[in-house]
Amino acid sequence: MLASEARQILSRVGSLVGRNQLRSISNGTAQLDQQAQPKEAQEPQIKKFEIYRWNPDNAGEKPYMQTYEVDLRECGPMVLDALIKIKNEMDPTLTFRRSCREGICGSCAMNIGGTNTLACISKIDINTSKSLKVYPLPHMYVVRDLVPDMNNFYEQYRNIQPWLQRKNEAVEQKGKAQYLQSVEDRSKLDGLYECILCACCSTSCPSYWWNAEKYLGPAVLMQAYRWIIDSRDENSAERLSKLKDPFSVYRCHTIMNCTRTCPKGLNPGRAIAEIKKLLSGLASKPAPKLETAALHK
Ligand code: SF4
Repeated sequence: MLASEARQILSRVGSLVGRNQLRSISNGTAQLDQQAQPKEAQEPQIKKFEIYRWNPDNAGEKPYMQTYEVDLRECGPMVLDALIKIKNEMDPTLTFRRSCREGICGSCAMNIGGTNTLACISKIDINTSKSLKVYPLPHMYVVRDLVPDMNNFYEQYRNIQPWLQRKNEAVEQKGKAQYLQSVEDRSKLDGLYECILCACCSTSCPSYWWNAEKYLGPAVLMQAYRWIIDSRDENSAERLSKLKDPFSVYRCHTIMNCTRTCPKGLNPGRAIAEIKKLLSGLASKPAPKLETAALHK
């Protein structure tokens, strides 16, 4: 839309909207004015990015921060856009993971401006008087620059056996019919299955920082709960008994950094509390609303 058209619409809706809304629309037209000008006539918008650099394979090299200057006029709006621009145009050695660029794959999880989040859905603060600091996810071994070593995290995920388990698979007509699940039972998985395993939550958790070998951490525990509570899964008791030790679950001290930082708006802290209730006998898994054994011959 041209700035002149935007201004006409603004005057037409002027009587319908409040003053604050008008002000924000006006700011928008100022930006449109800036965009309408040829790029050479616009003021440069130089934003400094201070980025953690370290290649552990270089003997003797210590971690350091490297500053890059990016003109925001020539960059997309997200932090991942800036990282890609830096890599493509300034420094091909800068190393980071990325894939989907829309908050689905979890690859670009990193610590941006002090918060664990996804670079692809994290907007660049356009205040150019402040630099933006970018680090890898905290308290993880570093493979290189912004790439953390995820092996321990994935191994812990593997250990909770994240798949549907049945007692009598041999007598069920596998592949011929669905395991039935009521709408109510299915809704218990909402807020759990959406996790993209980005590890932002686990690496924001002080208990996980100090006990990552033995404490499973919020992301993996939320997935453990997702299978425990699934009405079709018949191995809940075994799943719970594997968590019954002083570390796997009980290193959680309800600090709730996990829930605060989750870029998908999920609540791993609540899932851990539900596991504690099941472990302590304060709650038990309800019987399925639909008879899942209907699949037996
Ligand atoms: Fe990432 Fe949220 Fe899943 Fe944790 S719960 S791994 S922060 S999506």
